[in-house]
Amino acid sequence: MTSRSGETRPLSGETRLAAVIGDPIRHSLSPTIFNAAFAELGLDWAYLAFEVAEGDTAAALDAARVLGVEGLSVTMPHKTATAHLVDELTDAARTLDAVNCVVRDGQRLVGHNTDGAGFVASLADDAGFDPAGRSCLVLGAGGAARAVVLALAGAGAAEVVVVNRTAERAAATAALAGPLGRVGSAADVSAAALVVNATSVGMGGQGCPLDPDGLGPGQLVADLVYHPVSTPLLQAAAARGAGVLDGVGMLVHQGAVALELWTGRTAPVAAMSAAARAALASGR
Ligand code: NAP
Repeated sequence: MTSRSGETRPLSGETRLAAVIGDPIRHSLSPTIFNAAFAELGLDWAYLAFEVAEGDTAAALDAARVLGVEGLSVTMPHKTATAHLVDELTDAARTLDAVNCVVRDGQRLVGHNTDGAGFVASLADDAGFDPAGRSCLVLGAGGAARAVVLALAGAGAAEVVVVNRTAERAAATAALAGPLGRVGSAADVSAAALVVNATSVGMGGQGCPLDPDGLGPGQLVADLVYHPVSTPLLQAAAARGAGVLDGVGMLVHQGAVALELWTGRTAPVAAMSAAARAALASGR
């Protein structure tokens, strides 16, 4: 491990382990982001990625328990299975039926979902945007959209409009916002203060999830897709005078929430963001 000052920190019998489970996992930026954070904080921790096949979630959690893994990130395809296997869930993880972060409490494993809190923190930190009292529109109804809709409602949005290709999924996701949620259409885009792309459209630089001509000054357009960092949607939104927020901020901030839960230390968000952006710029 290399510290901020560039000196090598040897792993030892004292080193504490954090990890991510998922499949596929080799592309994950989490080891880069968390190891940068540990180095910045001078913590004798290391973070690894474990490829765990669907169906092996219980075995992986048992292993984490027995091996004393201090912090566990969970990604596809294990988020829902983990929610059914941990000893305790936070309210957000229970509502979403999905866990992306496991925290040890003695022998107990507590399942959290930090995606929504990470998104709202990125809105504040990276774009100076407070959803309270504002009209928000979310494109998509998958796991990421559900976390964002729940968090925007919790942050006091005036309304959360959900637009999705598959109507039934839109209704279920809008319901997460309670009376603030409703299913909308492309016609709602121009009236929203915040437009969030939580579909996978735009990954690899292919496609725009909406007609950008409805976007303009006074709106903030956030894309959860971060590969590429500047998506076709963000480019089109910026060209029409809207503010833009890329998906790296959410990725970093959901990790920052996890790191604070595991270590009790304030996350070095700037170092985590720099590591993520450098890895993405180098083609990771
Ligand atoms: P998911 O559960 O598979 O949901 C995918 C969503 O995209 C669904 O709403 C789906 O609509 C929609 N969609 C897919 N292809 C579409 C198309 N051709 N046209 C219209 N809609 C389409 O995925 P997820 O986990 O929510 O992730 C969504 C995106 O967010 C991914 O790109 C992921 O990388 C990104 N993400 C980023 C972060 C971050 O930290 N920045 C965190 C989580 C996820 P249907 O319901 O109609 O199928």
